[in-house]
Amino acid sequence: MKKLRAEVADADQLEQALRCNAFDFIYAPEKLLNKDTLFKEKIIAVPNVFLGDCEDKTLSRLTELEKWGFQKALAHTVGHIPLIQKAKMMIYGGMRLNITNSLSAEFFAEQDVRDFIVSCELTTAKIKALKCAVPFGVIGYGRLPLMVTRRCPIKDGRPCDNGKSCGKYLADRQGKQIKTLCSNAVELLNPDILTISDKTDDFSTVDFFVLRFTDEKDIISVTDEFIKGKKPQSRFTRGLYYRGVE
Ligand SMILES: [Zn+2]
Repeated sequence: MKKLRAEVADADQLEQALRCNAFDFIYAPEKLLNKDTLFKEKIIAVPNVFLGDCEDKTLSRLTELEKWGFQKALAHTVGHIPLIQKAKMMIYGGMRLNITNSLSAEFFAEQDVRDFIVSCELTTAKIKALKCAVPFGVIGYGRLPLMVTRRCPIKDGRPCDNGKSCGKYLADRQGKQIKTLCSNAVELLNPDILTISDKTDDFSTVDFFVLRFTDEKDIISVTDEFIKGKKPQSRFTRGLYYRGVE
């Protein structure tokens, strides 16, 4: 079985992920972390996506986390890399680095990125062709972002309250619910959940699968089904793994 990582969105999911021994690492938003968080060695702290008006704040927060014993942080963009380095933490690359080929993978490996999640726009064929000195993974399960915006569409364009969920959802023209992850950046989430639980053999060259939890209440049963390789029952998507963007 491949190595699994969890990406969590709230405190309850973080607690479940920390109690579950299926995960080598857990990507957790920095706002959920404090000095009493258990298993700090398993946590990759996830800072804000947008740094435009909060670079200094993000650096001081990472520095605080490092003092508490957290050693790993996620780089969403190249702009995050120097902040993580200044905070003396190890850099883990996220899917927004948009690593799509061996050349970009090598570039980030040279920037001391320990491992990374490939762009979710890559096909299985392009993932197989990826050669790199550092390990890499793919999103194996979860709602992918349709877009990321500074202004919250649920609050009519105003910022979200203190990074708390604004609680409602949008609907597309077919009436599908588009949920949001509200924070300093708002993610609009695909109504259909991506899963490759029954297709992991097509990803033989990847080192780990990320289960990306957003609005799930019970992440353990999702994880169990992924491990068993069960074909998903409800509406799901394969993302772009089998059709690409061309
Ligand atoms: Zn919001």
